[in-house]
Amino acid sequence: MFLMKFSRLILTPTFISSSKLVTMPSNISTSPLIEIKNLIKTYKTPAGDFTAVNNIDVEVQRGEFVAIIGKSGSGKSTFINMITGIDRPSSGEIVIDGAPVHSFNESQMAAWRGKNLGIVFQFFQLFPTLTLLENVILPMELNNLYTKSERKERAMSLLEKVEMTQQAHKLPSAVSGGQQQRVAIARALANDPPLIVADEPTGNLDSKTAAKIFALFEDLVASGKTILMVTHDSDLARRVNRTILISDGEIVNEYLVRALSQLTQDQLVEVARRVKPQVFAPDTNIIREGEIGDKFYILLDGKANVYLTESGGSQVLVNQLKRGQYFGEMALLGNGIRTATVKSSAEEPVTAVALDNEAFNRLIADSNKLRDELTGIIEKRNIFNQLQAISSFDQKTLSAILKEMKPIEFEGGHEIIKQGDVGNTFYLLLDGKVDILLKDEHGEEILVNQLSKGAYFGEMAVMGSKRRQASVRVSKNSFAKVIELTAQEFEDLTSSSDHFKEHVKDLSSVRKKQLEGTSKRKVRK
Ligand code: ADP
Ligand code: MG
Repeated sequence: MFLMKFSRLILTPTFISSSKLVTMPSNISTSPLIEIKNLIKTYKTPAGDFTAVNNIDVEVQRGEFVAIIGKSGSGKSTFINMITGIDRPSSGEIVIDGAPVHSFNESQMAAWRGKNLGIVFQFFQLFPTLTLLENVILPMELNNLYTKSERKERAMSLLEKVEMTQQAHKLPSAVSGGQQQRVAIARALANDPPLIVADEPTGNLDSKTAAKIFALFEDLVASGKTILMVTHDSDLARRVNRTILISDGEIVNEYLVRALSQLTQDQLVEVARRVKPQVFAPDTNIIREGEIGDKFYILLDGKANVYLTESGGSQVLVNQLKRGQYFGEMALLGNGIRTATVKSSAEEPVTAVALDNEAFNRLIADSNKLRDELTGIIEKRNIFNQLQAISSFDQKTLSAILKEMKPIEFEGGHEIIKQGDVGNTFYLLLDGKVDILLKDEHGEEILVNQLSKGAYFGEMAVMGSKRRQASVRVSKNSFAKVIELTAQEFEDLTSSSDHFKEHVKDLSSVRKKQLEGTSKRKVRK
């Protein structure tokens, strides 16, 4: 298995390259909060040395909410206990906010921890003989922070934050587990540390209480704290902005995990064991449009550009993929022919792992979720490629519009637009066929035109008169898959692309003549 490189931000594996980056408040330093290098922990056991953490490299940025997942015994606690100083590394470096934590002696560690770190445990670990309020005050006393009256005030306001002021003077044993954990969180915040580390904080709570505790952590992240949380709960783990999967003391490549987030932990570990990362020099073709393809690629580092060949033979850049995204799935789920060319960017090499046909098929056979996700992405990429190839829309505008949009499918005979109605929407025909029909004064319909995949309609009402000039009905024995745009979205598209603007203008004047011609012919008859 290979280790992850320094990782930073989060991208969802979607065909749209728009940035879903975690933006940090500008007044906060942009250096990573945690920098860990070559971290190793070896335990001496009667049976010989046992390496529980095996050469971990990782960075955590300020404001990140990181879930640490992995099987029991994989090394999660050992890993975070070295961050908190509960356990000490055999070798390697841990630098937190500039402090070389790995090199601290016990008293340095205790002093540093008291001010910089909040720790939350699975079994709460409140002092049983102190009241809840006293438990929260204690870290301030131990670290000699704040005045006596400030401490009490501060502790009460923290208890208010976790909705525990009513019980402030009770002993831990007098309240429920969930309530104890809320107090433990208040205690972890006592000295206002930038970093909270929690080892299975919801592991001993029912799911409803766990969700409440988790929501508290989400609030803390929103207020600027950084959180590392070991968890067994994969539903909760999905809600954070970063997931680190540990297997046998090593981190499974984070971008592989992100790309295949629909898989179970076991499946991910299994895939990671099988694949070897490949490096492609800058500006190298990885797959070529039109060729037969038998590999599925997951991008782990660098950027890859996606190109489509236009009818004239030139290549247009239609998308840029980043780490955690994948490509090559369309050929594998389709007819085996590559539908696009994907190239490493000119600036830097690309690291990717390739799964062959058999491995890919095994994955999607094992995981309905992954299959559904791939099918959804393929549909979007298909739509995008079609529209891009047809009309040279501005890529960014089109991406933004399509992002939120679901194609609508109609059966044969369905009337999409009715002549005479007032309407201001515009339609892109993604697949199928529609008839354009004109009614004469006797209400008789004449077929003016038939449109197929890639055409659009409704532009006349959007551009000029608001009344529909003709009816548009799905052709008999066919279907129509369309995307409906509002007048504003249509406006955004036309103003983003001169080419498209010209095209619509030309086309609508041709169509106008066609309609006029048809009604004249009809009148003469
Ligand atoms: P996790 O938190 O992922 O369940 P741990 O970090 O607690 O896993 O443990 C990782 C491995 O290290 C386990 O196999 C465990 O038995 C071993 N281990 C943990 N602590 C010690 C120790 N003090 N001495 C020997 N082995 C240990
Ligand atoms: Mg553990």
